[in-house]
Amino acid sequence: MPTVHNWQLGRAMEYPYPEHHPSTQFAFVFNINRCINCQTCTMACKSTWTFGRGQEHMWWNNVETKPFGGYPRYWDARLLNLLEKANPRRQVWDASGSDSHGAPYGRFDGKTIFEAIQNYAGPEGAKRVLGYLPTPEEWESPNIHEEVATGLAWDGKSFGASTRLPEHKVWYFYLARLCNHCTYPACLAACPRQAIYKRPEDGVVLIDQSRCNGYQKCVEACPYKKSIYRSTTGTSEKCVACYPRLEGKDPLISPNGEPAETRCMTACPGKIRLQGLVSIDEDGQWAVDPTNPIYFLVRERRIALPIYPQFGTEPNGFYIPPRWVPRPYLEQMFGPGVRHAIEQYSCPDRELLAVLQLFRTTQQIIFRFQIEEGPKVAEIEVTMPDGSRKTQEIYNDTVIGFNKFGKEVTRITTEEPVFERPVQHVNSF
Ligand code: SF4
Ligand code: SF4
Repeated sequence: MPTVHNWQLGRAMEYPYPEHHPSTQFAFVFNINRCINCQTCTMACKSTWTFGRGQEHMWWNNVETKPFGGYPRYWDARLLNLLEKANPRRQVWDASGSDSHGAPYGRFDGKTIFEAIQNYAGPEGAKRVLGYLPTPEEWESPNIHEEVATGLAWDGKSFGASTRLPEHKVWYFYLARLCNHCTYPACLAACPRQAIYKRPEDGVVLIDQSRCNGYQKCVEACPYKKSIYRSTTGTSEKCVACYPRLEGKDPLISPNGEPAETRCMTACPGKIRLQGLVSIDEDGQWAVDPTNPIYFLVRERRIALPIYPQFGTEPNGFYIPPRWVPRPYLEQMFGPGVRHAIEQYSCPDRELLAVLQLFRTTQQIIFRFQIEEGPKVAEIEVTMPDGSRKTQEIYNDTVIGFNKFGKEVTRITTEEPVFERPVQHVNSF
């Protein structure tokens, strides 16, 4: 099997196809700390792409309440169990050699879904990817266990230590998910019809409906369960990254061909989402570009982490982990970078604070940002993850975002301005 380099694992790994990389890659950052579970993203996607017959249970974007929720039900726990069975007690990271560029989270010493399947010989013969096909019941309840907490419950008198940062004892969080348009897609690797392809211009992974025969090998292989079967057409379908918008073909938002973010991103009232395109070097590495906000958050500051990087697909969806959740749970989901990410998020410096303001300030994709320094406006005491106190200085800097053509498309200050409208008459609006 060919060998490819996976920067998220800090090592080479086996994959059914040789390295072949797009010139730019669709990627996104979600700040979980801000998600309010309104499901606006879910409905924005549903009403755009999956409102037809046979798509009733198809949610390309979903938001599930962790740890119990999942769509399909148990998707991550089931695969983690399969991996553990294939490689007992050895699904571990060595984070000691982490460096910011080559191996930002250290090295994953366990087996990916492509490696764990080797030597497998089941009744259906050899397989390319370790996976499973969810049952119809598991697809039925997309938001089961919504807002169900785990940990210590109210004992009738108090929550005890449960309401104290840095980690609540009672906790849950909202995990918004869509296809990660992986660098090494498991769906593509498993398709016997070669109906799935990764676009060279933006890394978007698509299913050619005219080639798909509905074998559901992609559904079985995708570790995130983001390829879904449609019974009325007999084919599998998945997120298309709103590619007409990426191509600048929305006449209202992109009159001059400017790339725009997807529907689920732009609809988000919680302002948790920022989507972009990062440049890829010929060797498959992200080209160094600290003025691209996605590059800045993922590679420069390592505040946003890939979801289940140990699966091995090199997902391009990255998450700023929630501060209140026990670290072992977060680390099994986002890898060993969790502590570093949460430390930075707990007390961001002025540059990071400015970049965090860019989320949802424009529908156009921001290719570059620039910061104009402003005056110091506050000094606040913050609690760090280890319980220590730190002083955060806040500057009213201005962050400016530019589109693909270098045109300014957003400008926002760190301190949000407050406007008070004078009331002129009772019942006036
Ligand atoms: S998330 Fe799943 S469907 Fe999307 S590219 Fe990765 S393997 Fe394929
Ligand atoms: S629209 Fe935004 S805030 Fe609302 S559920 Fe989706 S990701 Fe969360």
